[in-house]
Amino acid sequence: MQIPGHIDPVVTPRSITPREDGRIDLLGLSVPQIRECLTEAGLDEKAAKLRAKQIFHWIYHRGVTEFDAMTDIAKTQRPFLAERFVIGRPDIVEAQVSEDGTRKWLLKSGDGHDYEMVFIPDADRGTLCVSSQVGCTLNCRFCHTGTMRLVRNLTPGEIVGQVMLARDALGEWPKGNMAGFGDDEAADEDPAAQYSSDGRILTNIVMMGMGEPLYNFENVRDALGIVMDGAGLALSKRRITLSTSGVVPMMEKAGEEIGVNLAVSLHAVSKDIRDEIVPLNKKYGIEELLEACAAYPGANNARRITFEYVMLKDKNDSDEDARELVRLIRKFKLPAKVNLIPFNPWEGAPYECSSPDRIRAFSNIIFEAGISAPIRTPRGRDIDAACGQLKTAAKKPSRAERDRLDEEKRTVLS
Ligand code: SAH
Ligand code: SF4
Repeated sequence: MQIPGHIDPVVTPRSITPREDGRIDLLGLSVPQIRECLTEAGLDEKAAKLRAKQIFHWIYHRGVTEFDAMTDIAKTQRPFLAERFVIGRPDIVEAQVSEDGTRKWLLKSGDGHDYEMVFIPDADRGTLCVSSQVGCTLNCRFCHTGTMRLVRNLTPGEIVGQVMLARDALGEWPKGNMAGFGDDEAADEDPAAQYSSDGRILTNIVMMGMGEPLYNFENVRDALGIVMDGAGLALSKRRITLSTSGVVPMMEKAGEEIGVNLAVSLHAVSKDIRDEIVPLNKKYGIEELLEACAAYPGANNARRITFEYVMLKDKNDSDEDARELVRLIRKFKLPAKVNLIPFNPWEGAPYECSSPDRIRAFSNIIFEAGISAPIRTPRGRDIDAACGQLKTAAKKPSRAERDRLDEEKRTVLS
């Protein structure tokens, strides 16, 4: 029984960033997790089951952040929920818009860490580039994020929170009633308002922001599970792509438990060069990586694996490199397409971008072998929102500290 004036603390599930006010942020929780929270708050099993389903729908299908807006939950019960729970959003530190329409948000977690997300509008789609970690443990030499230390993994709430925030900013939540769902008062208040999910602006998600998603496997899996849940955001797995720099031991599991499209940051076709630019290659080599791609569950000619290839001048961009790439794709019988990414520069980067002619010649060789090899148009370069430019300035270490960190990394790697 509830003692008046007394609020029993609810045990915080793992993978939630605790809040100072002691309330639990439901953002990022699945229906069973919400149910568990409600049971711990004192609701009986039956009520918790029904309320969890309703709350999930309100959070992810309708985008509400106040319990008071949940019209199919009894008015008297809403304060009970609001005293114990919140439906949060990441804090926005800065929002920028590029001259090409790309938008970048600098976000802050409850415990003060910065991370970024990017929205890229196109004529036929809108893609949200989502971060999985603050910083990255890997040190790909052409990537700005790689110069940061790993600060921490993002929680499912912080990952889903990026999608929620983007939909808020794009004004994309359906308005209107919830006909057929519970005892909805809104339907009576405004019978003319109808839910419509047509004409979405945010249509695709790529896990290509800061961090290596397969080094934060469980949180990324749980977050994408929520994003794909038909009762909520309901994005199709065909519209979600996870990019990995090649964490071979996690790839099969990712295919089985997440099941989204796979992109692999290949970037080089010889051991020497890939060791240099993607140091993870020293642990999982090219052959091993391509074998894991060939075994990726769900890959076929209709759902190809994307190989990302950053074009670095005089490093990995010769005709021979292109021919070797074709040979490898054929050798492993991969249902593949190649995405050529012009290198996006950042201050202090040790590489330059290949010339447009060189990139075109490289692309042609792959096309002529019957493999699609589009050249990605850089987006949002003017606001440092393009691939590999993400880095939260707030955490930039001093030169002395950078030297010390480099030394630390070298010791760890050797
Ligand atoms: N960590 C994951 C996903 C994030 S990076 C991964 O490495 O796959 C998204 C893509 O941008 C990757 O293919 C990455 O290699 C590429 N990238 C990184 N830095 C870049 C840069 N400066 N210019 C162009 N692409 C870059
Ligand atoms: Fe990390 Fe990906 Fe950047 Fe490599 S390219 S440092 S894996 S974010």
